[in-house]
Amino acid sequence: MPYDDNGIFAKIIRKEIPAKIVHETDTVLAFEDINAKAPIHILIVPKVPVESVNDLQDDHAQIMGEVLLAARDIAKQLNIDEKGYRLVINTNSDAGQEIFHLHVHLLAGRKMTWPPG
Ligand code: 5GP
Repeated sequence: MPYDDNGIFAKIIRKEIPAKIVHETDTVLAFEDINAKAPIHILIVPKVPVESVNDLQDDHAQIMGEVLLAARDIAKQLNIDEKGYRLVINTNSDAGQEIFHLHVHLLAGRKMTWPPG
């Protein structure tokens, strides 16, 4: 699936549509999920146009590292680092990916079940 420059997350990154932004760097944006599945549900997105994990290139290694560092910083900022949180990346239909701009879900604020559904 080719990257859709008019997709929702592309527009949020360009600040063309609003989102509750919780963290931003030159390369990463994090904002609240519009349909939260937990008391805390943040989406962390690399600003580069990549549809899914399948579409990552070797030269995305740096920015994907920065996505994880953003998760670390947000967890500390929201004071959930000690209690815990879950990071999820859905890829394609079996995982239920709906938005084809790679994103990490950060879920927290309740006890998570394992295995996930
Ligand atoms: P996926 O299923 O692709 O892993 O997750 C997409 C997520 O994006 C869903 O949790 C959904 O609630 C969220 N989402 C969809 N549209 C919007 C939107 O316009 N704004 C925000 N903040 N989140 C959205």
